[in-house]
Amino acid sequence: MDSSGRRTKLPRCPMCGGPVDIKATPAPPFCSARCQQIDLGRWLGEKHSVPHVASSNDGEESRGDGHGELDES
Ligand SMILES: [Zn+2]
Repeated sequence: MDSSGRRTKLPRCPMCGGPVDIKATPAPPFCSARCQQIDLGRWLGEKHSVPHVASSNDGEESRGDGHGELDES
């Protein structure tokens, strides 16, 4: 537990945001294989949940563009 005193050089896990020991992690740049799996699952899950993404011009996301009606009270 006295290996590294400075943890400012450690990269951060994109999943949990914790410090990643690149030399020790089995699944860089994640801190652990679990985080990698979670990230992968999220990726697939998002693709599954959102069939069409990148079309913000033909969806209901562009509300307020032409219509000025508030639907949320
Ligand atoms: Zn992590």
